[in-house]
Amino acid sequence: MMSWFKHSETPLAANRREVAIRMEAIGGQGANSAGKILSDAAVTGAGYTGCHFASFGSEKRGSPVQSFVRFSPMGAPMRSAFFTTSPDLIVVFHEAMLRMHPGSLAGATASTTLVVNSAKQPGELLFPSGTSFGKIICVDAGAISRTKRCGINAVMLGAMSVAVPEVAQELVVASLEKFFGRLSNQARSRNVAGFRAALGDSHAASFRNEQASLPPGATPLPRMGWVNAPMGGLITNPGNTVLRDHSLSRQGFAPRFEARDCIQCGYCDMLCPDYCFVWDRSGENGAAALKGIDYQFCKGCQKCISVCPTGALSLSAENAIPEGERLRKFPDLDPEALEKKWHSVDWNINYPDEEEEK
Ligand code: SF4
Ligand code: SF4
Repeated sequence: MMSWFKHSETPLAANRREVAIRMEAIGGQGANSAGKILSDAAVTGAGYTGCHFASFGSEKRGSPVQSFVRFSPMGAPMRSAFFTTSPDLIVVFHEAMLRMHPGSLAGATASTTLVVNSAKQPGELLFPSGTSFGKIICVDAGAISRTKRCGINAVMLGAMSVAVPEVAQELVVASLEKFFGRLSNQARSRNVAGFRAALGDSHAASFRNEQASLPPGATPLPRMGWVNAPMGGLITNPGNTVLRDHSLSRQGFAPRFEARDCIQCGYCDMLCPDYCFVWDRSGENGAAALKGIDYQFCKGCQKCISVCPTGALSLSAENAIPEGERLRKFPDLDPEALEKKWHSVDWNINYPDEEEEK
């Protein structure tokens, strides 16, 4: 009888007819590549049937991206290329998505495993009310990718491998090396090192009921229609303009300002596409003086760092920037106040035709 299992006569979870994985990331974090690598390991490495595809939203860096992998250890044919609505594994590449993009958790059940790029422990994460998982795995992919100088996707693949025992880790390493074959040996080794670091540095725990404690209104989930659609063509997806909070566009990094080294040349302000720099008139004889950065608008493009002649701006993990250094350019546009205002709107108004039917 023909065997579907090229490398393992006894797959670890051969009772699973299909393994469905959905990666939720933002453009530029490499979720599409991670999906290609994992599906290559599952299909050409382990000999399963499987497929991979991705959805890129508005196709720009900083937009939410989804990458889907399906494979069957039982050899069931993969005929669907539809989005995964009942995932066995959800992989979130950016912790802010849990708060700002609740759709990233859609379809989670008590048997779903969640892998999150987070410096927190699994028990510290909070989710919208009603959310449920079987297991949560946290990996500080930002820190590992900085120390190993590798892609975040290589680290997330390591954490995924902890959750997907059906595909042997060495098969994923082989696919990773194949995929990055065009890179230098050093760059390939760095990515493999990031993958292996995640195997040892992933923290797993069972989901606790009290973690699903955020009230539903804590995340923007408006009901949109022709009656209550925002005026003026506002795009309300996370990372866009309505909440004026670009933190989801960053990939875990942001510039950090060291006032001591600043010579007030203003190059950073000239190059910043989002006017993030906050100045006042506290310089000599009332001259303009740079006070810091408004991270509300910063999308983490790092252009300011590249142009700063003195090193007063440096790359930092965004969660390492203390609250006291997060200035407000327009204090009246405080994002928390705006978010409260946003949630105070009753989006569940009745549509006129619904009224008539009653
Ligand atoms: S990283 Fe980009 S958006 Fe942020 S302050 Fe620097 S130039 Fe502006
Ligand atoms: S480019 Fe550097 S030195 Fe010049 S104003 Fe900006 S932070 Fe200061």
